Amino acid sequence: CGIVACTGAPEVGRVLLDALSRLEYRGYDSAGIAVTGAADGRSAVLRTTFRVDDLQRRLDHWQPGLPATTGVAHTRWATHGEVSVDNAHPHTDCSGRLAVVHNGVLDNVLELRAELGRAGHVLTSQTDTELIAHLIEGRLGGFPLRRAVEETIGCLRGSWALAVLDGATGELVVTCHGSPLVVAESERGVFAASDLAAIAPWVERYRIVEDGDVLDLAPGLPWWRHGMAVRPPASIASTLRGT
Ligand code: GLU
Repeated sequence: CGIVACTGAPEVGRVLLDALSRLEYRGYDSAGIAVTGAADGRSAVLRTTFRVDDLQRRLDHWQPGLPATTGVAHTRWATHGEVSVDNAHPHTDCSGRLAVVHNGVLDNVLELRAELGRAGHVLTSQTDTELIAHLIEGRLGGFPLRRAVEETIGCLRGSWALAVLDGATGELVVTCHGSPLVVAESERGVFAASDLAAIAPWVERYRIVEDGDVLDLAPGLPWWRHGMAVRPPASIASTLRGT
């Protein structure tokens, strides 16, 4: 029901969970976070059917020594599959290299499951979201993550706001269709979120992502300066700062 992604923040886990806690008002049944930095190129993933606080407690034990600066986080409102840790996001591909968080619901799940089954993918959840991770994996083949995501969304029907993290390269790509998403720049790093409220206290520039945009989340890329508003509406920012 809420997604947050960030790159460039020194304590990315803490920053992501701080932002995620501002989306708790939307309601959720489970939550999770993935950050890159594991030496083997996999994303380290924590998931819970308890509250965001529970992730924070577990992150406190696990964060030291992990030099992660890029990650994604999610609060889930289940549409496909029961409420369980296996169904909580982030979802990974077969190799554990990708971590995907998703708001929304896919309409062509049966067709996609059949396609992945024929290609030999082993699925470990009942969600529509896990299918997206495996579809991207099947399209990576040495290409930039952005291109694999572009090809994958051409196969999807339904609604999505997606953040996709590649633990092997540190690439982070976001896109949406029928679910809201904003990207933003701040002193704490570069962000994407399903609601500006998650990140408004820190944001210096932001932009609403249009349906079909597929964006590399990295500072300094060409799209970054186009169409960015300079600050979030003062009313949102000051409410969240408590001023
Ligand atoms: N359809 C996805 C699921 O059931 C995402 C739901 C959401 O937006 O939280 O896991």
